[in-house]
Amino acid sequence: MPIIYDDEKSYRFHKSDSAERCFACNENSDRLLIVRQIKSMMLVHLCHNCIANNFSDYLLDNTRPWLGEKGNI
Ligand SMILES: [Zn+2]
Repeated sequence: MPIIYDDEKSYRFHKSDSAERCFACNENSDRLLIVRQIKSMMLVHLCHNCIANNFSDYLLDNTRPWLGEKGNI
């Protein structure tokens, strides 16, 4: 069962985003990272090149708690 956070609306993906391709260059990369687009504050998938070339337009967002063996949530 997927974990539902009470701040779920803060973690929506951009409507044009796809998990299979880079949001910025449309490249079909198997190594995409999820970042937050500052303009829309929505999550998008980006390739490494686009993160490096557009670093001021995106934020790394790891604000969710990590769930694991040591987590109590
Ligand atoms: Zn890209």
